[in-house]
Amino acid sequence: MNAEIIEKLKAAVGEKYVLTEDEATKPFLVDWTKRFVGRAVVVRPANTEEVSRVVRIANETQTPVVPQAGGTTLVGGSIPDDSGNAILLSLSRLNKIEDIDTVNDTVTVEAGVILEDLHKAVEEKGRFFPLSFGAKGSAEIGGNLATNAGGTAVLRYGNMRDLCLGLEVVLPDGRIWTALRGLRKDNTGYDLKQLFIGSEGTLGVITRAVLKLYPQPIGNQTALVGVESPDAAVKLLNECRTAAGPYLTGFELMQSKCLVRVHEQLPDIGLPGPVDDCPWWVLVEVSCSPDSGPSLEEILGKAFEDGIVKNAYLAQSLKESEAFWKIRESIPEADARVGNNLHNDISLKIALIPEFLDVTVRRLKDAYPWLDPSLYGHLGDGNLHFNIGSIPSNLAFENEEGIRKITYEETVKRNGSISAEHGIGQLKREHFLQLKDPLELELMVKISHALDPNDIMNPGKLLPDRK
Ligand SMILES: Cc1cc2nc3c(=O)[nH]c(=O)nc-3n(C[C@H](O)[C@H](O)[C@H](O)COP(=O)(O)OP(=O)(O)OC[C@H]3O[C@@H](n4cnc5c(N)ncnc54)[C@H](O)[C@@H]3O)c2cc1C
Repeated sequence: MNAEIIEKLKAAVGEKYVLTEDEATKPFLVDWTKRFVGRAVVVRPANTEEVSRVVRIANETQTPVVPQAGGTTLVGGSIPDDSGNAILLSLSRLNKIEDIDTVNDTVTVEAGVILEDLHKAVEEKGRFFPLSFGAKGSAEIGGNLATNAGGTAVLRYGNMRDLCLGLEVVLPDGRIWTALRGLRKDNTGYDLKQLFIGSEGTLGVITRAVLKLYPQPIGNQTALVGVESPDAAVKLLNECRTAAGPYLTGFELMQSKCLVRVHEQLPDIGLPGPVDDCPWWVLVEVSCSPDSGPSLEEILGKAFEDGIVKNAYLAQSLKESEAFWKIRESIPEADARVGNNLHNDISLKIALIPEFLDVTVRRLKDAYPWLDPSLYGHLGDGNLHFNIGSIPSNLAFENEEGIRKITYEETVKRNGSISAEHGIGQLKREHFLQLKDPLELELMVKISHALDPNDIMNPGKLLPDRK
């Protein structure tokens, strides 16, 4: 990047917050999977006004801007290319929780607030923010919004689209659009915030948001439940929905292999007992106490009598419930330790999942007998992390194209999505461009051209190259 632009950036945010040396920029330029590595000048503004100044400079000089929050994207979305021409715009210094309003049940936050910090802050006020997943200690609200993050409580509370009531965005020309009214009803035309949620940094920079809060759950009943097959898991989901209704807040499916691997790779995380008697396990959560609502023990007892459930560990305390969730949330880390795998994040209508798994795993194994799938996900949302590893681990990556082709063919054939929650980024861009409905893609491109005529916002991600 030329020296004149760097000087302007220093004037905009302060010299200390413009990083140009390799040693200083390096931690920002590699993603969580270590697959994507870029080069860029890293700029760390402190507030919306400074973000606006930086984006104005970028627009005037036609310099690409790559917004970055916690850097936990699994699709290379917040990593620039290796040209060294881009500004990596880190939002992490915008980390204020501005207003917890317990009457409106909303919180106003800056984009760089870490998700777990938000959980703690609202809990102190007796409130609950439901978005949660394994990377909650690093992922930030701006990144959660830009990817429309999902996680383990979508079943009950929805994803970020459902949890957001207002946004502040720095547009690609540097103007600041502020819509932080926190209204639950507002039918004055298009709902523009939804355009920016899930746009992966291609339409503007999210700087603040108003998010919905909920009362703290009135209790927790959590169980790890062994079943013979995904089909049995779907039957159990139906039983739980019928009996627990809105109290059913989590329903996660995992291969027993995933649980064993967590314990092997992260020995501090214990299992509640043997798990090899069942090939699949479900983590179920019902958010009430048995005396104030449905009893999970009774629901599971009936499912056991009906032959749906084979084994179950019911958490006896909040600590044990947290330990069960820790197992689930540590699967990606455990997989990474055995050599990582090809991350797939697909969604289907729930009823189609057992047959999809059956057919797709068989097709893949016929083609690649050394395959080592790690299958788990948010079954209650029809979302599977259909991750494909191999022994040895390099084989899956060497055959990536063929593995993804089969996986996506089977997904699309059933009207599913190739990205349920992680987004497209760099990793899935080519497949997305091939598979997306042409008219939908055309509309997306038109919106991007209208808002960002100079093509500065996160080029190389999601949308096709313009030049
Ligand atoms: C162990 C693990 C478990 C995970 N589990 C889940 C899960 O269950 N559900 C789920 O949805 N995801 C999950 N993820 C993926 C990831 O954590 C989410 O996509 C998360 O929302 C990304 O947040 P981040 O702060 O790390 O964003 P980043 O990775 O920094 O950025 C993500 C994208 O958003 C853009 N962006 C970032 N900040 C802004 C901003 N302020 N304005 C505009 N654009 C911006 C970036 O350019 C990039 O395209 C998981 C990841 C890991 C490592």
